[in-house]
Amino acid sequence: MKGFSLLILSSLFLFSCGKKSQVSLEPPLVTEKLLPYHIQLIAVGKVDSVHWKAAVKSLKEQFPQAYITCNRTSLPITEDQYLVKGKMDSGKQLGILHSNKPDSVNTLIGITAENIAVKERTLSNGKKYKNWSVLGLGSLQRGVCIISYKRSRTIERFTQTVIHEFGHTLGIPHCPNKDCIMQDADGDGDKLLKNPGFCKLCQAQVDAKLDR
Ligand SMILES: [Zn+2]
Ligand SMILES: [Zn+2]
Repeated sequence: MKGFSLLILSSLFLFSCGKKSQVSLEPPLVTEKLLPYHIQLIAVGKVDSVHWKAAVKSLKEQFPQAYITCNRTSLPITEDQYLVKGKMDSGKQLGILHSNKPDSVNTLIGITAENIAVKERTLSNGKKYKNWSVLGLGSLQRGVCIISYKRSRTIERFTQTVIHEFGHTLGIPHCPNKDCIMQDADGDGDKLLKNPGFCKLCQAQVDAKLDR
């Protein structure tokens, strides 16, 4: 079960009606209030403090209404997690993150210094590539994503990837709007840099999930 619910029970009111006092037979009003959206970061292997702090800072700035925590443990990297030498299987990592996601966490974000890749990627020009390196991968349904800083040449590109992949974990798919951070980089991470924020439609989806 995700999160807890706070139940605020209204008090029963006695009210007078004419000369007689009556007790309302209406059921008490129940207001359900959710706890803030909980984002947790976890290191996959060894992660440097510069990238770690930058990820936390950008999430706090972008999503001030969320509750952000850092998992003290780091997930170990083993040989069987690689697609080929030097390329970790990002899909497999999402499964590992999902099985390590605490019930109280809405989105678990894995950060890694390792290169990550997908088994196969088809670009919009129709070309297919095997073991295609990616900057990040996010699940639309499972509340997990992974971001690598191995190939992100700047901190800014890394943090934008964090925001983009986190957006996927809210269920937001790629956006056709070229001015939106949720657009498909389509093999060119520089595209994200030109789009510092969410478009109006994607921002509305973010707010719907995070404003509680
Ligand atoms: Zn994406
Ligand atoms: Zn958008």
